[in-house]
Amino acid sequence: MTTYLSLGSNIPDRAANLRRAVEQIAVSVGTVTMQSPIYETQSWGYTDGDYLNQTIAVETTLTPQQLLAATAAIETALGRVRSGNGYEARTIDIDILFYDNEIIDSPHLTVPHPKIALRRFVLQPTADIAPDYLHPTLHKTIKKLLDECPDTGKVRKFVIHNS
Ligand code: ADP
Ligand code: MG
Repeated sequence: MTTYLSLGSNIPDRAANLRRAVEQIAVSVGTVTMQSPIYETQSWGYTDGDYLNQTIAVETTLTPQQLLAATAAIETALGRVRSGNGYEARTIDIDILFYDNEIIDSPHLTVPHPKIALRRFVLQPTADIAPDYLHPTLHKTIKKLLDECPDTGKVRKFVIHNS
C-alpha cells in the first residue's frame, strides 16, 4: 500500500529531527519512495517556534492501525512528550495523510487526515510529490486543493546549510 505521511518539527535540531524520522520510518514502516522538499512554516500556536514540514510517500505492508502504532512509537523514540494541550512544541509530529484510497473513521484514526485541505503547510509539500493524487472524499486533486486553500500562513522553502 502507498501511504503519505506528513512530518513536522519545531524543536532544534528541526532538520535532523525530520531526517531521523525518515530513517526510522524506513526501518519500521516500509520503503520511502518520495520525499518532498522541506518547508518552513509559521506556527499556529502563539509561543511555539516555526515548524519545518515535509511530506513523504512510503510503500508499506502494515495495516493502518499498525502504521499508526509504528509512527507513534517513532514520535516517542525521537523524544516527543505529549503535554495534553493542543499546540505543544514537538520534536516530531507524524500524521497519516492518506493510506491508498481508504477511508477510515475509527476513534484513534481518521484517514484521510481531516485537516489536509485547511493546511497550506501540508498541501504544499504534498503537491510537490503527488500533485495529481485524488483526495478520496473531497474528490479533488492535491494541486486543486492547494489552489483553493484559504490558509494564509507563510510557507517557504527551507535550505539546509551544512557548515
Ligand atoms: P495533531 O497531529 O492533530 O496536532 P497529535 O499528533 O497529538 O495531534 O495527534 C493526536 C491523535 O490523533 C493521535 O494520538 C492519533 O490517535 C489521532 N489521529 C487520528 N487520525 C490520525 C491520522 N490520520 N494521523 C495521525 N494521528 C491521527
Ligand atoms: Mg499528529
